[in-house]
Amino acid sequence: MFKKVCIIGCGLIGSSISRAIKKNKLAGKIVSSNRSDVTNKKIITLNVVDEASSDTKKMVQGSDLVIIATPLSSYKDVILKIKSSLKNGAILTDVGSVKKKIISLIENKIPKNISWISSHPIAGTENSGPEAGFASLFEGRWCVITPTDDTSESAIDQVTNLWRRVGSKVDIMTPAHHDKVLAITSHIPHLIAFNIVGTVADLEDDTKMEAVKYAAGGFRDFTRIAASDPEMWRDVFMENREAVLEMLGRFNEDLSSFQKAIRNNDLKFLESKFSKSKEIRKLIEDLGQAGTFDPTESKKSRY
Ligand code: NAP
Repeated sequence: MFKKVCIIGCGLIGSSISRAIKKNKLAGKIVSSNRSDVTNKKIITLNVVDEASSDTKKMVQGSDLVIIATPLSSYKDVILKIKSSLKNGAILTDVGSVKKKIISLIENKIPKNISWISSHPIAGTENSGPEAGFASLFEGRWCVITPTDDTSESAIDQVTNLWRRVGSKVDIMTPAHHDKVLAITSHIPHLIAFNIVGTVADLEDDTKMEAVKYAAGGFRDFTRIAASDPEMWRDVFMENREAVLEMLGRFNEDLSSFQKAIRNNDLKFLESKFSKSKEIRKLIEDLGQAGTFDPTESKKSRY
């Protein structure tokens, strides 16, 4: 599909894309640029890419496809570095977990001869870095692409094709809609996990150790989610502040209703709410999206 692909940021997501591109033979050459020489050396040793350097401008030159897979807070820096080195007609995409704010940031800075379209693979694990990546991460998972009025049809086709060739199902959303949907399906669930694990972390020592010792399935799963990368999640909440706060408002209202029902012994309310939740779970299972968590299977997408 491409003569040369450049992946800026070869951590969990970037290295998984590189591995998947290699596995499916979609590029003649894959290069990467990361901040640290340690990471650049590591991805060469791991045979994830053909060439790597912290000289981002140099790596980007001559690439038909450039993928930004760095933390959201680095986007401005990255785009300023690469904008004058992008090849005429190159396709530029990213994998960021938030869309609206970062799309306008990039759209305003890149030259008109670049086909820019943002994407978000709904795939991942709680691990970070190039060792955590694997080629099958995107298989059977959704990837949302978020074109704007300025996006060309050919960019939509090529990026859709790329994600399909690495095994993803592709859907199209507006950036604002994407941010709203992901706020409730991903960002707030992570916030709840950070919060509940944080509550345990602040308990007095004896009770905390008991919570750890007797961690039941529910709490154990929260600790897995809460072990996700702090830098990535800090950025997500900063970049998607509006949608997260809106959904959090609704979540808090519902939580208050539960509080009231428990205080008032309102069995009917509780039962009806719990039954509704079961229906959502059934819908997810029917769509084949349920997944199960098996701690022995480290190479499995658990986004
Ligand atoms: P990660 O494993 O921490 O990897 C980030 C990579 O970016 C590292 O290789 C890091 O290199 C590099 N990097 C950081 N700042 C850089 C800069 N200024 N210039 C060049 N390279 C830089 O992160 P990740 O989980 O793959 O997440 C990357 C992106 O994917 C984020 O935007 C996130 O929102 C999105 N995403 C994540 C998930 C998930 O589940 N994790 C899922 C979907 C989308 P150094 O080691 O040299 O710092």
